[in-house]
Amino acid sequence: MNKKKIGIIGVTGSVGSSSVEVVAANSDLFDTVFVTAHQNMQGLEKAKNLLNAKYAVLTSSPESSRQILDIINNEMVDIVLFAAAGVSVVRLVYDIVKNGTHIALANKESIVTAGSLIMNEAKNSGAKILPVDSEHSAIFQCLLGQQKQYVSKITLTASGGPFRHRPKEAFNYINKKEALKHPNWSMGSKITVDSATMMNKGLELIEARFLFDMKSEKLDVIIHPESIIHSYITFTDGSTIAQLGMPDMKTPIAVALGYPDRINSTVQPLNMWEQKSLTFFKPDLQKFKCLKIAVDVLKTDSNALMTAMNAANEQAVYAFLKEKIVFKDIPDVIEEVLGKVEIQDAETIDEAEANIIKYQKAAEEITGRL
Ligand code: NDP
Ligand code: MG
Repeated sequence: MNKKKIGIIGVTGSVGSSSVEVVAANSDLFDTVFVTAHQNMQGLEKAKNLLNAKYAVLTSSPESSRQILDIINNEMVDIVLFAAAGVSVVRLVYDIVKNGTHIALANKESIVTAGSLIMNEAKNSGAKILPVDSEHSAIFQCLLGQQKQYVSKITLTASGGPFRHRPKEAFNYINKKEALKHPNWSMGSKITVDSATMMNKGLELIEARFLFDMKSEKLDVIIHPESIIHSYITFTDGSTIAQLGMPDMKTPIAVALGYPDRINSTVQPLNMWEQKSLTFFKPDLQKFKCLKIAVDVLKTDSNALMTAMNAANEQAVYAFLKEKIVFKDIPDVIEEVLGKVEIQDAETIDEAEANIIKYQKAAEEITGRL
């Protein structure tokens, strides 16, 4: 059997490192053609050597996107695992999809910003977008063999993050160290803060809207603190199908890279008898203002608003990580930027990129004066 030729973008990050473990455990199945990092040369070299990759690319160099696309085409790469963080990579996601190359996609910011543009290109080019985000991997798995017309609801589960029990009034005193401590998942710092504000779930609702072409009315969120059920689908006949597993990104990475086969993820399967109980709660939208903002933006279906929300959130989270603003400022920055948006939806990737820059600047101005 021919090995699958793969590339990993963002190999030095949290998802990237998990993917190195999965690929290394399946060296008979994968041939790693290239790996990328943004700045971390040492980590990049380490991953290159571990996976015996042919090329290592630093994406902070201006020519890197062209270089990556050339490698993909010259080496006939089958699938690219996209594990870079943030919206600045949206053009590269778009270009790889347009090129017709399958993507195992962890980066949610690109879909939130340019979901319909990317999905349209995928339709035209035949590129498959295989979700790596654990909730979307769960939905993808629950939908296998099903017909979309029979889906009545898709429910994304959320752990609720570290501040589920923290009273709203105490949100004023949350510091960076607390926000970076997630109860169940170990992740990069941006997404960990997003989980603490619950913007992560908001971004994921929008991600699901595009990845599965679902109307906002059919998308819902539930708090499930154990993070064992990764999402579930209710069908029109009253059946519910859920996907369960340990909270470990190596499982969804293995699902996406192995598809349509099932491969070794190195993750231990669940022992149901060790799982004393699975609990569920309604999210508190008064307390988690970021989730409420995202739910409202999702309903508008406007990509200008989605782009503005995502860009403002990203700037606000980076400002929070630099301790320039406090935790409770994050939703306020996003709301202020959204208040300034002229709803002019992007119809091309150039327009989408122009919107990102515009709303990043608006958010920077606000975080600068706070
Ligand atoms: P990390 O911050 O841990 O890693 C980010 C990776 O992207 C690093 O390899 C980094 O390189 C690289 N990178 C940073 N900036 C750029 C850039 N401008 N262009 C290209 N590459 C860049 O992030 P995570 O692994 O936590 O998350 C990655 C993506 O996956 C995010 O979009 C996140 O929302 C999503 N995701 C993450 C999950 C998780 O468990 N962590 C779960 C579900 C989704 P360098 O090290 O050189 O800086
Ligand atoms: Mg997720």
